[in-house]
Parts: sequence; C-alpha cells; structure tokens
Amino acid sequence: MDTDGLRDQLLAIVGADHATFTPLHSPDDLRDESLHPAMTEPFAVVRPASTDEVRAICSLASRHGVALTPRGSGTGLSGAVTPVPGGIVVSFSRMNRLLRLDANDHMAVVQPGITLRELNEALVASGLRYPVYPGELSGSIGGNVNTNAGGMRAVRHGVTRHHVVGLELVLVDGTVLRTGGPVVKSSSGYDLTQLVIGSEGTLAMVTEVTLKLSPGLAHARTVLVPFASLEDATRVVPSIVASGLEPSIVEGVDVLTMAALTDAADFELGVDPQVAASTAAYLIVVLETRTDKQLEDDVGYLASLVEAQGALDVYVLASRSATRLIEARERLFWVTKASGAQDIMDIVVPRSRVADLLAEARRIAERHDSFIGGCGHVADGNVHLAVFQADDDVRKALMHELFAYGVSLGGQISGEHGIGRDKQGPFLDLSDPSLIELQRRIKAVFDPQGLLNPYRTLDARPLP
Ligand SMILES: Cc1cc2nc3c(=O)[nH]c(=O)nc-3n(C[C@H](O)[C@H](O)[C@H](O)COP(=O)(O)OP(=O)(O)OC[C@H]3O[C@@H](n4cnc5c(N)ncnc54)[C@H](O)[C@@H]3O)c2cc1C
Repeated sequence: MDTDGLRDQLLAIVGADHATFTPLHSPDDLRDESLHPAMTEPFAVVRPASTDEVRAICSLASRHGVALTPRGSGTGLSGAVTPVPGGIVVSFSRMNRLLRLDANDHMAVVQPGITLRELNEALVASGLRYPVYPGELSGSIGGNVNTNAGGMRAVRHGVTRHHVVGLELVLVDGTVLRTGGPVVKSSSGYDLTQLVIGSEGTLAMVTEVTLKLSPGLAHARTVLVPFASLEDATRVVPSIVASGLEPSIVEGVDVLTMAALTDAADFELGVDPQVAASTAAYLIVVLETRTDKQLEDDVGYLASLVEAQGALDVYVLASRSATRLIEARERLFWVTKASGAQDIMDIVVPRSRVADLLAEARRIAERHDSFIGGCGHVADGNVHLAVFQADDDVRKALMHELFAYGVSLGGQISGEHGIGRDKQGPFLDLSDPSLIELQRRIKAVFDPQGLLNPYRTLDARPLP
C-alpha cells in the first residue's frame, strides 16, 4: 500500500484529530526518558479510543507489513518506545478510563492508558489502593505491565506482575482475546497473562488490565538510619526483611546521592552534624500498620535491630519531612540526569549480595577512571547506579564487567526498567543462548512477521 492509502485508512479508523504524520509529530511522542534517545520518526502516531480501533490498526499494519510501536506515557528508561522509521506508533493516551471497581473482590479493570496518578485518585474513596509504586506517577498501567514495573514498595507488595490477574490483548493480526480474570488463583493452562507482563510491547497490544487491589493502611512512619559505610547499610537489610516487620519501603542511598537529592528538593534531613560527618550511607525504612500502637512497637523494634548492627543513629521523621524525602527520592532520576550521568543501571542481585555488588562497582569504576554512585531498592537487591564516564567505549566496557559480575551472583541485567534498546548488548551476551532462542520462538508464534516493537529486546538488528 502507498503511504497515502495507509494515511487514509488510519484516519478512517481514529479520526483526523487523533493522528499525526511525518514530519508533523510532536517530539513528546517520539521518545521515552532513556538517556540515549534515538531521534527516529515513524510514519504515523495514532491515538485509538477503543479496543476495536486497536484491532483495526493491527489488522491494517499486519496486512501491509508495517511495524507497530505501542506507547504508554513514554516515561520508560530503556528506549523501548523508540519509533521505527516508516512504522506506526500506537499511543494509548486516550484509553485511560477506570472501567470497573469491585470493592468486595478487590479488583479494578482499567484501560491501559490510565496513569498511576489517575488510578490512585479514582481509588481514594474506596479505601483500596493499587500498592505497586514505581516512582513516576505519570507512567501508564499499560507501560507498567509491559515493563513489569517495580518501585519502592516491592519489598512488601511485590511488582506489577503480582497484581495483574487478567489482560485483554489484541494480537498483531487483529485477534482480540482475554487471559486470566478477576480471580486470585488459577491452574488452568499456560499463564499467558504472566508471559505478556514484562514483554515490552513485543508480543501483543494490551487493551485492558484487571488489577488486584489491597486495603490501604492508615498509620505509617518513615525512619532514616545513617551508617558509616554503604556496606554496613546493605548488610542490615536481610535482618530487617527477616524481622517480620514487613516494611513497605527499604531504600539505600549513598551520602553523595542523598546530598544531591536534598539539595535539589531544598530541604534538610535534620541529622545531627556529628553523626552526619561520619555517615557514608542511609537506609530509609517505611513501616505501615493498621493501628498506631502497633506502629510504635514496630518502630521501637526496628530501632533496636539496626542499632545492634552498626547504625550511627535512628531518626523517626515528622510526616512532612517524610513526605518530602520520599518525593525527593522519586525525583532522583531527574537529579541524576541533570548532574550529567551518562547511564543508569538497574541491575538486580540476591539481596544478601548487594554489598558485594557495590564494592565491585567501586573497584570497576576506579579501574576505568570513572565514577559510579546511587541508591536502590536494596531489600529487593535492585540497585540504580548512575555511571559517569563520557567515553562511550570505556563506559560500555565497565558496565559490561559490572553486568557480568551481577549475573555471576545470580542476578539479572534489569530489575524493573526493562531491556529496550539500551541494554540489548549485555542482555543478549550474558543470557543462556538456549533461553534466548526459546524466547525468539515464542515471539515468532505471537508475531510471525516481527512487526510488534521490533529492533529491541531479543531483536538486535540496528534500526533502519
Ligand atoms: C522519574 C522516573 C522514575 C521512575 N521510577 C521507576 C521505578 O521506581 N520503578 C520502575 O519500575 N520504573 C520506574 N521508572 C520507569 C517508568 O516509569 C516505567 O518503566 C513505566 O512502567 C513506564 O510506563 P509508561 O506508560 O511511561 O510506558 P512507556 O515508556 O510508554 O512504554 C514502556 C514499554 O511498554 C510498552 N507498552 C506501553 N503501553 C503498552 C500497551 N498498552 N500494550 C503493549 N505495550 C505497551 C512500550 O512499547 C514499551 O515497551 C521511572 C521513570 C522516571 C522518569
């Protein structure tokens, strides 16, 4: 089909107000928040309003062999929404409604374009919440599903895949199907819901998501614990997790990163200057419970636990400071970006090996005359490391060494941001070739022509 014909058919499906064509796209539709944006232009960006429109777009693209890039809010950090020249970007921004809320079953059915902020607001009156907490609230549920987003509360509540019980999918040929449903268990055939979660838009368009919700907990305290070294801070973490306190958040932050974070947010932690002078790292621990009495007991128990294991002090933050600290931590990506980091790694290892990973990161950085710093969801073993090294070859070599070390500890290349285009090299190099081959065969079953989000994850070809 010629491009005029394709344009006419797309306009007939979504309407003239909901499509742009090259070269008239908004730059905001063409990239995510990866530090390595590829400035490519698709033929079209379309904004369907319904599953039926998505189905029609997929059938059209399939018939004419045109690449499709599904897009949520574009807050991803791995280049997974980079458009394919000549292809179609399918933006889910108009499919953003809460379709159903069942308070008795603790289930919500949403369209994929709903943002975390919109979902949180829609749930307030019910007393229920969607407890997964990836830091960027403008991210969409469809994007969260496709990256298996994690975030700060995973230590207690798990990641996206633990809360998605069903999906509506549009396959690349236009077939519409439903996986799972509003039930908390199922032993009924292959779990295709879980297969699609984390697939980065390469297997199917997600057009509806059934989410499992949790009751909100009324009482919360944020505890800040300084340590003399990052290793001391991370070594305490397994015993906090084992204590039964069920913290909602356990973040480790090195002292330089904490200074950058509080400077950017313009607030003071209120740590005694003498303690601050000996501090190399902090743990931020959030405890949540049903009653205030239980909370007081838990905070006391946490304090005695960390003091017995080398904490320099323990600060229970006033609620305003606590909110500011957590919000500042959410915005850390922007601070890191503004400070000139050339890369961000989100490697995940067993939580008991985080100290080893950080020590090795320091050694590798020194060997390559570079700097690596950061923070992490340390109770999940998932660290976000900012890499400062302007020379691309040196940076790639040092990151490869660190990825290889993480994998040797039993870890994975990405804990929550996904592979996208940015981490394809280490992902393909360091994975078992038989596993990659099996995944490519699965991809071919869903998408025989290779049209859905090509040139990323398993598909290492350079963009045309
Ligand atoms: C400041 C900041 C903080 C962040 N903090 C965290 C964090 O703590 N934890 C974390 O996990 N992530 C974090 N992220 C990353 C990001 O928010 C997540 O990756 C999020 O899941 C992306 O959602 P999105 O809607 O922006 O998806 P996009 O970036 O638009 O897309 C992500 C992937 O999903 C696919 N996709 C999107 N919608 C669909 C659909 N309907 N059907 C099929 N495929 C689809 C895309 O093709 C792409 O592969 C952060 C990002 C920023 C900028």
